Amino acid sequence: MGTRQASELLVHPHRYDPERFDAETRRLLRATIDWFESRGKRKLVADYHAKTFYQDFLDFVADEAIFSTFLTPARDAAGNPGRRWDTARVAAMSEILGFYGLSYWYAWQVTVLGLGPVWQSDNATARARAAQALEAGGVAAFGLSEKEHGADIYSSDLVLTPDGKGGYRANGSKYYIGNGNCARTVSVFGRIDGVEGPDQYVFFYADSEHPNYHVVKNVVPSQMYVAEFRLDDYPVSEEDILQTGEAAFSAALNTVNIGKFNLCFGGIGLSTHALYEAITHAHNRILYGAPVTNFPHVRTGFVDAYARLIAMKLFSDRAVDYFRSASPEDRRYLLYNPVTKMKVTTEAEKVVALLGDIVAAKGFEVEGYLPLAKTDVTGLPKLEGTVAVNLALIGKFMPAYLFDPREYPPVPTRTDAADDEFLFRQGPARGLGKIRFHDWRATYGRFAKVPNVARFTEQAEAFAELMRTAPPDADQQGDLDLTLAFGELFTLIVYGQLVLEQAEITGLDDDVLGAVFGVLIRDFSGLAVALHGKRGSADAQRTWAVSALRAPVVDVEAFERVWSQVVALSGAYAMKP
Ligand SMILES: Cc1cc2nc3c(=O)[nH]c(=O)nc-3n(C[C@H](O)[C@H](O)[C@H](O)COP(=O)(O)OP(=O)(O)OC[C@H]3O[C@@H](n4cnc5c(N)ncnc54)[C@H](O)[C@@H]3O)c2cc1C
Repeated sequence: MGTRQASELLVHPHRYDPERFDAETRRLLRATIDWFESRGKRKLVADYHAKTFYQDFLDFVADEAIFSTFLTPARDAAGNPGRRWDTARVAAMSEILGFYGLSYWYAWQVTVLGLGPVWQSDNATARARAAQALEAGGVAAFGLSEKEHGADIYSSDLVLTPDGKGGYRANGSKYYIGNGNCARTVSVFGRIDGVEGPDQYVFFYADSEHPNYHVVKNVVPSQMYVAEFRLDDYPVSEEDILQTGEAAFSAALNTVNIGKFNLCFGGIGLSTHALYEAITHAHNRILYGAPVTNFPHVRTGFVDAYARLIAMKLFSDRAVDYFRSASPEDRRYLLYNPVTKMKVTTEAEKVVALLGDIVAAKGFEVEGYLPLAKTDVTGLPKLEGTVAVNLALIGKFMPAYLFDPREYPPVPTRTDAADDEFLFRQGPARGLGKIRFHDWRATYGRFAKVPNVARFTEQAEAFAELMRTAPPDADQQGDLDLTLAFGELFTLIVYGQLVLEQAEITGLDDDVLGAVFGVLIRDFSGLAVALHGKRGSADAQRTWAVSALRAPVVDVEAFERVWSQVVALSGAYAMKP
């Protein structure tokens, strides 16, 4: 059983040196931390509250060629050996940027999204143009959403009209577009006038500096620039077309697959910084002659926040491996990806809420990081599809995952310097229900000696039994309010499986693993109660819900040992003023 202290998994700026990466990658990650630290916390929070656009950050990443190094796939890197699309280091950068604030993370994230349709395109001219724009220090933007249509991308109102010379004129506007104020590479989704069905869709390349591209406004009251932009007779030539027809639609979904993945690491970085600040404050605050951390409910809050954060990190790190080892024969990442998105980001919300409750007024002070974290963390689950959209997606995998496992070659830890070229040829976004998984029971079985894992396994087995004996019937399947509740229960099983796989790989200590599964047991019970109270639940499902309730195994000494890990973080890190 494991002994690795869990806090070693968390980013710590003073000792950050990820030996798993090559020298240049390490240098750039370290340089990013150093840039934020030398610029200091006062400026970080002042710029946040003053809503100052982060041009200094964009200048820094341009000077260091960070976006072009990390975000140019090998095929478009013109032989530059440092450039590749390496999900492990993209994740590491997302975690660091999240640590210093989601505004910075966002400028990076929407660049990832904006590049997605370009790197997936067969249009070599457009790819070369994007590579050059990145090399020159530019950022990218992803122009998918529109003001009136939200998640319903079939209803795009940005229309391309043939110009009679083989090209088009684009008219219409886009809304909620990060970097839309300054990106030289803007991937825009639209439809061709007069064409019906899937053939009408198109992704094309635009440039925010073109005179027919108008930045209307920033739609959010924030440091981030989330643009409304309008195209007025914007000329689109053959060279600007990235995809047409069904390929354009798949490019949108496959880009979101790639981009969605950074949300979890943004949330992990943000939660880690919030934890350092909260524990340092609470442990040094004396009330009635004793530290606030002497209150049992405060300790419980910290241990829960820590356990949730470690689980987020374990799941997401393991998901990187499945991403990087994905192929047409192994598309398991398509399940783990929406789980990173809807589960890890909502866990970040829970961590920050727990910490915010503990520190109380401190979480509102103008000098602190916590006010930023509390505000921004709520955005993470809303980007790249909402929680509901991702849960609906997760539900498609449930039968194959629970009842039809198959063998796969082992997936090793993937921190090697490979180029993840498959992500740009994921193919049609269909057939999700046919994707098979390795056996979850085998993973859980290897940890049967950890009492809380064994107890959670009982709940997982009970859920499988429910889905075998009393799954939602045809009528209930139309009730998203109900099926999403099933989806949340199912998600916990998937989440726990990858947490265990990564706990095995890292040799995580059993005390923390027990605390993590203590949280999962309570969450499962809470979701079962929610299912019990749903308007649409059937009697058999309500009976099942009550029978599936469990409490974690009580181990007071293990709790104290986990608490001692958390309290050791008091004073461990404070950002340079
Ligand atoms: C800060 C910020 C930055 C953003 N940046 C970008 C960007 O750079 N580029 C870009 O293209 N977009 C961007 N977006 C838009 C984002 O992708 C959308 O928020 C998202 O697509 C959902 O659209 P909506 O928020 O309008 O919600 P709506 O689509 O209006 O959804 C309303 C409700 O209906 C539910 N719902 C909708 N469809 C389904 C479904 N199929 N199943 C179940 N429930 C459903 C949702 O869960 C939600 O609760 C950004 C959004 C924010 C908040």
